[in-house]
Amino acid sequence: MEEFLPLVSEEELKEEICKTMRRLFDRGLISALGGNISARLPGSTEFWITPSGVFKGELEPEDLVKVDLSGRVIEGFLRPSIETPFHAKIYERRTDVNAVVHSHNPITTGLALAGIDIQPVTIEAAVVLRKVKVVPWAFPGTEVLARLVGEYIEGARALVLMNHGVIGVGSNLLEAEAIVETLEEVATAQFVALLFRKDIPRIPEEDMELIKRLYGV
Ligand SMILES: [Zn+2]
Repeated sequence: MEEFLPLVSEEELKEEICKTMRRLFDRGLISALGGNISARLPGSTEFWITPSGVFKGELEPEDLVKVDLSGRVIEGFLRPSIETPFHAKIYERRTDVNAVVHSHNPITTGLALAGIDIQPVTIEAAVVLRKVKVVPWAFPGTEVLARLVGEYIEGARALVLMNHGVIGVGSNLLEAEAIVETLEEVATAQFVALLFRKDIPRIPEEDMELIKRLYGV
């Protein structure tokens, strides 16, 4: 019998979480206080998450905390992120998701505040983001927010949290990171375009169909 070997070890996963944090911090999508990341080995009911109350730009693997789906700490010395409830809710609802990135994308969040939907204005947006839903305001760290995120994440890859930030999910960390980066890229392009014209050109419908067929979205 062949044994199934996971593609990454738990140690590699923790390394990757810290690297992703640093990259998003350097891009201004995660700040000293805002943003958190988690990841799990496929099929696991426990996940690693960034701690709360620690400077986000220089996290080390030993700063991470392992929790189960009820938020109980399994391993680690620091307090897990206050947003642990919505990370847990996503893993509970979505067995296909192994990584969750929550960042504070300024331009994406700003467009949502202005009541402007994120549109698939580029190929990347059409392929990677699908429909971007906006989760109504709920206080950070609460069960109310976790419940809303659990509902809205059905069939979605990207969410905007009203008056707060964004969430990207993926089957691995790179996918989840790509979601929040693409969100900000598309939001920025849309923002710049909206300064000069109201009717932004869209990718023609037949090409959208082609994109859907080519990429299976
Ligand atoms: Zn936040």
